[in-house]
Amino acid sequence: MNRPPTDRRSFLASALAAGTYAALAQGPAALAAQEEPPRRLPPLKVSGDRRIRTVVGLRPYRPEGFVLTNERLGEKVVVHNYGHGGGGVSLSWGVAQMAAEQARNLEDKNVAVIGCGVVGLSTARVLQRRGKAVTIYTRELPPETTSNVAGALWYPTHVYDPQKVSATFLERYGLACRLAHREFQSYVGPEYGVRWIETYTLSPEPVGRELPGGPELYPETRFYADARPLFGFPYARRFGSMMIEPQIYLRALLRDFYTAGGKLVVRELKTREEVAQLPERVVFNCTGLGTRALFGDQGMASMRGQIEVLLPQPELDYGYLANSLYMFPRADGVILGGTFEAGNWSMDADDATTKRIIEGNAQIAKGLRR
Ligand SMILES: Cc1cc2nc3c(=O)[nH]c(=O)nc-3n(C[C@H](O)[C@H](O)[C@H](O)COP(=O)(O)OP(=O)(O)OC[C@H]3O[C@@H](n4cnc5c(N)ncnc54)[C@H](O)[C@@H]3O)c2cc1C
Repeated sequence: MNRPPTDRRSFLASALAAGTYAALAQGPAALAAQEEPPRRLPPLKVSGDRRIRTVVGLRPYRPEGFVLTNERLGEKVVVHNYGHGGGGVSLSWGVAQMAAEQARNLEDKNVAVIGCGVVGLSTARVLQRRGKAVTIYTRELPPETTSNVAGALWYPTHVYDPQKVSATFLERYGLACRLAHREFQSYVGPEYGVRWIETYTLSPEPVGRELPGGPELYPETRFYADARPLFGFPYARRFGSMMIEPQIYLRALLRDFYTAGGKLVVRELKTREEVAQLPERVVFNCTGLGTRALFGDQGMASMRGQIEVLLPQPELDYGYLANSLYMFPRADGVILGGTFEAGNWSMDADDATTKRIIEGNAQIAKGLRR
């Protein structure tokens, strides 16, 4: 192990020579990180003939950020909880707790939740824990929801347009991130399909310390420069986050909801008037993109995502993000993305996108250290 040099110039020279620039970004506390060499990563196999399916989903994206407000609808109160863009899985427990908190003065025991994606299910579970008798009304159930299409890394990104959000929104976003991050840790384990995973940001440019929700939510963050021989990119950053297997996780949440006495009605609500006629006086709106038609929020847009799924590789114990491309290893397949197409409402798989995702990730796989 190298001893840390004492003067600043030799400290910087040594940091760069060691192939890292953690000290530049983090200060002396990061010294230990510089002395830790990057580990050998199991090879990723990318080829067209390993592809097992292509999946398309429309992220419920609102440039102004998600909505958490109460609205009067005749005798009822509708608590809106929708529009979480590319981070709805990550934010789910946080926004669920915040929505429940917004209704804390409403004493009704029987409440309704519209929507059975990750946001509706989490909201329903938080309400049950607070002693409510919850009925979910929903058009689709898992595995038919957008939430099932998610990657799903705990990484609340593409949630808003930074040019369009207020400081107040950013505070609420930060709170939702912290609450959700804490709660997800209680679900780590095979029963819920949640686990910690090493993730790498691979970049042609130096990678900064910013991470969605704040750097303190990503343990063991490390920075590598001169990373080309190891990662195929000049710069890399490693961080710890949680990987969520949507098929396992959503099924387990639905089971928990039923076990706690929840009722579920498969029904599409088409108008506000239909919502006003529900028997419950307190209604949580968790319809994601469906809110645009149901409550007329024209600010709700689609951000299309297409994913290519390859045969599983159980030995892969890391994921990466490289510009718009990413790889997450899951039990049901290796997930390759990605696309972030705002305003595109097409649910059809696009062959040119498939080619770009497969070829782009194949190129990255070649650069990863063997
Ligand atoms: C390709 C892709 C990758 C993603 N990756 C990630 C990721 O890595 N990490 C992450 O955190 N997030 C990710 N996301 C985003 C995440 O999937 C969404 O933000 C999240 O699923 C939104 O959840 P939701 O419950 O609001 O919406 P949905 O899952 O769409 O659920 C909405 C529910 O409302 C119901 N509904 C809608 N309208 C009506 C109506 N009129 N009447 C009755 N019921 C109705 C639907 O049937 C459904 O049950 C990704 C999304 C995509 C598409």
